[in-house]
Amino acid sequence: MNVQHFSIVGGGLSGALMAVYLRRAGHAVDVFERRPDPRTRTAIEEEQSVNVALSVRGWSALTQAGFDDEILSIAVPMDAQILHPVQGAPDWQPFRNHPDGFLWSISRRALNATLLTAAESHGARLHFNHVCRRVDPDRGLLEVEDEQKQIRTISNTVVIGADGADSTVRTCLTHDRQAAEVQRYLTWGYKELHMPSTRDGWWPLHPQAMHLWPRERFILTAQPNNDGSFTCTLYMSLNDDDLSFKTLNTPGAIQNFFREAFHDALPHLPGLVEEFMRRPTRRLRTVACCPWHIASNVVLIGDAAHAVVPFCSQGMNAALEDCTLLAQAIRDSKGDLEDAFTRFEATRKPDTDALARISLHQLEEMRGFKFSTVQRWKEHTHRALERLFPSRFPSLYSMVALSRLSYSDARRRSRRQAAILDGVIAGTVLGATALMAARVAGHRASCSSAAPVRRSAGPVDGEPVQPSRPAHPTE
Ligand SMILES: Cc1cc2nc3c(=O)[nH]c(=O)nc-3n(C[C@H](O)[C@H](O)[C@H](O)COP(=O)(O)OP(=O)(O)OC[C@H]3O[C@@H](n4cnc5c(N)ncnc54)[C@H](O)[C@@H]3O)c2cc1C
Repeated sequence: MNVQHFSIVGGGLSGALMAVYLRRAGHAVDVFERRPDPRTRTAIEEEQSVNVALSVRGWSALTQAGFDDEILSIAVPMDAQILHPVQGAPDWQPFRNHPDGFLWSISRRALNATLLTAAESHGARLHFNHVCRRVDPDRGLLEVEDEQKQIRTISNTVVIGADGADSTVRTCLTHDRQAAEVQRYLTWGYKELHMPSTRDGWWPLHPQAMHLWPRERFILTAQPNNDGSFTCTLYMSLNDDDLSFKTLNTPGAIQNFFREAFHDALPHLPGLVEEFMRRPTRRLRTVACCPWHIASNVVLIGDAAHAVVPFCSQGMNAALEDCTLLAQAIRDSKGDLEDAFTRFEATRKPDTDALARISLHQLEEMRGFKFSTVQRWKEHTHRALERLFPSRFPSLYSMVALSRLSYSDARRRSRRQAAILDGVIAGTVLGATALMAARVAGHRASCSSAAPVRRSAGPVDGEPVQPSRPAHPTE
């Protein structure tokens, strides 16, 4: 085997897992992370409670790297999503119809800590409080600033940029004009809120589910933590004049808004106002970059290459899946890293581009849940078909979040299904129209004995109704 030295910039989720994969393959690995060690007490105390949904893709990437029970022990299984309407009972949508029908709610910090410990025990050298300042992609040089603000230059190394959506490695590639990036900022942002456990330490909402309050102009989500609490995230416009994070700026406005929009969540948010005003509001964005690698010197993975909006809960899962695919490409290329990086990018980029589109589409889907009749009808029909034929009619969300089908294939298949569904809806509308027309015709005939009797049960007046083909939301 051709042993290489890899410098991984970023000791987050993808950086730590990549270190495990590379060490298991016998390569030398240094990880440079700008933050303090997340396993230390100070980091744990400072951390806000952020959790992420781990799906079968991420789970598979972890098990292939040798993880198993240690992940399950820090995660809460979620086997359904529960939609909370403005009025009426919550709509329970179990995942169990799908072979990989589960999600795990897991603390990002706890998962990161587990991965870092594994990387270390496999022999990776971890350098915390080390900030990557510059990468020279042509010479394979990396400049890192250590705790004493000293710059260290590392040469003869292969740089893996796993440094997240604000990637310095990616910025160096684009400054050199060797790569181009597109960052798309949404007008929406998000704020995380803590829903504590009940007095007896139990979950205030059903614990084994992802809870959603989808509304047209804002969305609230809640995911369980294994201490009995939930992490809620409110998504809404940042600056709209009538309703946005900007206008929710007084205790009264915040209380009223939650009372009207999320009446069943409000009683479980005792510290709402204080927290809402204290916690930062962050902006949503997608990041796309091309190419992801320069020769055999630098390659990007995870959010550094392709950050997406979180409405399919896939950013981390895709980042972990990147590690499996890159490790496999390195293994298959037998020492030719440029070939490995080229093949990794060629197969993976179309998928993550598709994921970016799917995630934005999912936002539209969630916002439209209640408001478009055609859309709602399609949703219901699709859900009914999915219940009857889960493997033949999975929803796009199921294919993305509950399977390992490639994101591009999921998108293609969903479009095919949408076309079939349009046909079903058109057929239903035509059938219903014909039936109504037949009834009207029959009624008229029976009411007027003087009127000539119609021989057929076709439409009575004018042209038969032609239903317009509803546009597919991704078109
Ligand atoms: C609100 C929200 C909810 C989400 N929910 C989900 C979910 O449910 N499921 C899911 O799969 N994904 C979710 N995601 C996405 C997920 O968090 C990210 O996709 C994932 O963390 C990406 O992993 P990463 O390793 O690429 O980057 P990161 O986790 O961001 O790690 C990057 C690391 O690099 C370090 N770093 C940055 N710059 C430097 C530098 N110059 N030098 C050294 N180190 C550096 C950072 O400190 C960090 O530790 C969510 C995202 C958001 C915003």
